[in-house]
Amino acid sequence: MAFEGLSERLQNAISSVGTGGQITEADLKQMMREIRLALLEADVNFQVVKTFVRRVNERALGSDVLESLTPAQQVLKIVDEELTELMGGEREEVILATSGPTVMMMAGLQGAGKTTTVGKLANYLTEETKIRKPLLVAADVYRPAAIDQLQTIARQLDVDVFSKGTEANPVDIASEALAYAKDNGHDLVLIDTAGRLHVDETLMNELRNIKAAVQPQEILLTVDAMTGQDAVNVAQAFNEALDITGVIITKLDGDTRGGAALSIREITQKPIKFTGQGEKLDALEPFYPERMSSRILG
Ligand code: GDP
Repeated sequence: MAFEGLSERLQNAISSVGTGGQITEADLKQMMREIRLALLEADVNFQVVKTFVRRVNERALGSDVLESLTPAQQVLKIVDEELTELMGGEREEVILATSGPTVMMMAGLQGAGKTTTVGKLANYLTEETKIRKPLLVAADVYRPAAIDQLQTIARQLDVDVFSKGTEANPVDIASEALAYAKDNGHDLVLIDTAGRLHVDETLMNELRNIKAAVQPQEILLTVDAMTGQDAVNVAQAFNEALDITGVIITKLDGDTRGGAALSIREITQKPIKFTGQGEKLDALEPFYPERMSSRILG
């Protein structure tokens, strides 16, 4: 289960001080040390851990935790609020175009879950928003299986695919798909793009060119939760190159330690919009920082 180790360690750290009434500054310090270790062990980015612990500590010292008869509850509340803040505070909704088709482009490394997430988004947005007629665009021309995969997904959802095979240029595919969408009454254009095993300049240039050609409302980066702090480095690189609009953390149904989910917002300052919770096309959940914090703290 995701966050299992982190949940247990945070709960233990917080409850260890509090049951016997008032605590001392030394108790608090010890607890902060435990919280710090719990986060580091969950593969949370070092800078993020430092900032987080400082914030919690300042608030604990600035409040009446040391005089309180229920210090653990007070600290729990502070940690809960700060975890929520760390993951973005408020939920941020997807941006839909006010007129014409909404364009969303995916970005991310190979295997992060882009193609699957395109299907999940088409499914989610037609169920939960005004979107009625998505068009899935096969712009990952380097991995022939990606096109088949997208077609399979489209069949399952009974939606259309725009594909020009593997010979066409991804930027042309994206532009033509947008024109096709306008002509055929599609209100959502979801562009599946290529990924690489590592961040690479050719890929970034291609994505930049697609962005310039179709001017998407959303550039959504998919990152695999299981890749921990690597996901944070990847997010930073993609954000610098593309100025992404949001992040989708996939595979949160796995036994991730939690580092990516907890670090990405603070490092990129971009909202986590959804999480992937399984391989099926309905396994996409809108991201609510508060709920995620409650889940972590148990
Ligand atoms: P792409 O290379 O970025 O397009 O990645 P794919 O969409 O092909 O996904 C790679 C693998 O991850 C596939 O086997 C997907 O079924 C799987 N996958 C994607 N999202 C999730 C998720 O949220 N949870 C789980 N468990 N698997 C996922």
